[in-house]
This record gives sequence, C-alpha cells and structure tokens, in this order.
Amino acid sequence: MARLVMKFGGTSLADVGRIAHVARHVKREAQAGHEVVVVVSAMSGATDALVRLTSEASALHDAREYDVVVATGEQVTAGLLAITLQGLGVSARSWLGWQIAIRTDGTHGGARITDIEAGDLIARFADGQVAIVAGFQGVGPDNRVTTLGRGGSDGSAVALAAAIQADRCDIYTDVDGVYTADPRIVPGAGRIARISYEEMLEMASLGARVLQTRSVEMAMVHQVRLQVRSSFEDPEAPASRYDHQPAAGTLVCDEDEIVEKQIVSGIAYSKDEAKVTLVKVADKPGVAARIFGPLARAGINVDMIVQNVSDDGKHTDLTFTVPENDLDKALDVIRSARKEIGYNDLVGSTNVVKISVIGIGMRSHAGVAATMFKALADKAINIQAITTSEIKVSVLIDSDYTELAARVLHTAYGLDSPDG
Ligand code: ADP
Ligand code: ASP
Ligand code: MG
Repeated sequence: MARLVMKFGGTSLADVGRIAHVARHVKREAQAGHEVVVVVSAMSGATDALVRLTSEASALHDAREYDVVVATGEQVTAGLLAITLQGLGVSARSWLGWQIAIRTDGTHGGARITDIEAGDLIARFADGQVAIVAGFQGVGPDNRVTTLGRGGSDGSAVALAAAIQADRCDIYTDVDGVYTADPRIVPGAGRIARISYEEMLEMASLGARVLQTRSVEMAMVHQVRLQVRSSFEDPEAPASRYDHQPAAGTLVCDEDEIVEKQIVSGIAYSKDEAKVTLVKVADKPGVAARIFGPLARAGINVDMIVQNVSDDGKHTDLTFTVPENDLDKALDVIRSARKEIGYNDLVGSTNVVKISVIGIGMRSHAGVAATMFKALADKAINIQAITTSEIKVSVLIDSDYTELAARVLHTAYGLDSPDG
C-alpha cells in the first residue's frame, strides 16, 4: 500500500466526460488499496474566463476579491469529481483550501503555502475515503481566500504530498511526460524518462509550462518524487498500474538517480519577455546604478542586460529585458528618472522571445554556448542578448523565429528522437 497524490490539470477535466475518465484513474489507485489525495485544476479555460470577468468588472480591482472569483473554478471540478467517484462506488469527499486548511501568506494572486493542516485528511484514510482537494487555492493570514499564481495547482499537489508524506506525487496532464522541448512546437521532441530537480526547475522557469516553477522548487526542498504522466491513457491498461517503477512518464528526481547524463537535456522558450533600450546613455561610472536602482525599487525584475561598446568613449546603448507585463511600468520608471540617467531615446518592444538550452552536463563540458550561437547564425537568426548560468544558456531573439530556433537547436544538440 502506498500513499499518493494524483493531480489532474485543466484539459484532463475539461468536461463531465473527461472527469469520468479521470475518476477511473482514481478508482484504480483507490481499489489497489492506496491512500489517495486528488488535487484538481479548474476546467481548461475556466480560470482565464474568471480572470477576464474580474478585469471587466474593474480594470483596477482589489486583489482579495480577484482571488475570491478566480478560486471558484477548482471548486466546481472538485465537487464534480467527488460526485462522479461516488457514482462509481468510491468513497470520496471534496475539500476547499480553507477547509483543510492550506495556509498561505497574504500575497493575493501569487500566495505561497506556509503550512498545511493535513491531520483531517490523513484521519479519513482510515475509512478508505479519497480526498478531492481544490488546487490553486489556500487561506491567508486574515482568513481570506488566496490563490497561488497561474499553474498553481501543481504547487498544491506537491505541498500536499510533502504534508502527508506521500510516496509519490503523480502529475497527470495532456502530455505523457516532460519532453526535450515543447512537443507543440518541436515535432521531433522526445520524452525524457528521468530529469533532475535542478534541470526541471530551469526548464520550468525558462518557459516549459508543464510544471509550475514553484512546485518544482518545493519538490526539490521536500524531496517529493514527481511523476509527470498522461491522463489520456487507458485507466485500466496494465501500463497504468505501477508501484515504484513507472513504465511511462517522466520522473523528476535527484541527479544521482540519473544514469545517462545528457550535456543538454532540453530546450525551453518564453514569450513573456520585453526589451527596453536606452539610446545614447552616458558611458561613465554610476549610470547603471541610476537605471537599475529605481527599477528594483519598483519591484521590476530585470533579467538580461547588454551594454554596447561605446563608439566615441562618451555614449553607449544599453538594453535589458523585463517580464512583458512589467514593460509599461519599466518605461514609466525610466522616463521619470530621465534627468538623473540622461539618454537620448527610450525604446520598448515585445516582439522578442527568450530561448534557452538546459543541461547539468554543461558543468563539465565546454562549447555548449558556441554550438548554440553557430546553429542560430547558420539560420541568420540574430542574437540580441545572452545570459548564462551553470546549467543553462539563454538568448533573446526576434519572436518570429521562435519555432525555427527551437527546432534548429533541438537538432544541433542531437535531441531529435528517431520516431519524432
Ligand atoms: P495542465 O492543464 O495539465 O496543468 P499545462 O497546459 O499547464 O497542463 O501543461 C502541459 C503543457 O505544457 C503541454 O500541453 C505542452 O504543450 C506544454 N509544454 C511546454 N514545454 C513542455 C515540455 N518540455 N514537455 C512537455 N510539455 C511541455
Ligand atoms: N486553474 C489555475 C490556472 O489556470 C491553476 C492550474 O491550472 O494549475 O492557472
Ligand atoms: Mg499546468
């Protein structure tokens, strides 16, 4: 007997028919005698629709009320799945965040889980009851509903797995694992059987939305074994039944559990980037501080920074990237500091994409970046900015070349799967 968390995403719960299919997956595990907590997302599109409604009601809305509205999507699926399971003869009960309680900090719209009172859930295991938990939501210090940021039900699942000391946390989604690149844009992408927490963390934070970044962080800290698998497989097929050696899917685990280490494991892209260029800034000490100081104080995260070589020794152009949502705010901040900074022109643009190659093998192999630059140069794709860390190289390019660049890099690192 194992204790497990099963998390289902929005596409897997898109309508009552899909919910019935999910219920069969849950029934399989419950009937095998496992203690099961299920975490559900909202039906696909439901959260987007709720977000739109809050903006329609008022462009500048109270974040606490935003959470009250957008958290409701998960209440619907939790109840529907409990009803469906009961219909299949499986004892099941739905739980909202505050009922458990999943305690969070007070950052509405992007709250962090601080504590989970899992005693009640564990007590119900004794009666063979499956707990269906509404993902994405919690309760803040002032007892108000909070939400955990987009994609946050992955975080609910991992946090619950840590709280109940689950043997496994299975993330069921619309792909059968983590791929070497987003299979929607790179047809040759292949499934990765095992990936380290560190690589998965980079993949997620650099744009691979298959797992929420924070959920991977939590899994790494609490040593939760994460298995990404497909909800679309036949719930009763032999391959769907496994205990500790899954046949399919991707296991996210410690690096030392991975035998075959790749130099580059995967490629990710993020369109959520914007570029800001200050034309003709004075090339003298203190200018960078006058630009990035006010941005930091405004809570804007600057990612890539490029300063051109000065032609005349007096002026230079400076380019940096910020999250697309923060572009207007960043431009405002720079405009208000124009006198102190001193520049000729300010240009903002959103038609850029950040493409990254990720792999723990980079620590011990040289030439990874060079391969990337050559592959892009061969296709005449211009690199506008570069950043590197120990296990990744990222470049900023024109967003028109997203697919081409992802495919070309995938081939350049020998990642194309033979059957892709
Ligand atoms: P869910 O609703 O189940 O949470 P998401 O839409 O959040 O599902 O995440 C699954 C999607 O992530 C896939 O459909 C796929 O297009 C996308 N994706 C991006 N990068 C990758 C990758 N490297 N491997 C697998 N899927 C990826
Ligand atoms: N329903 C939420 C969202 O769309 C949470 C999730 O799906 O994980 O962001
Ligand atoms: Mg998701």
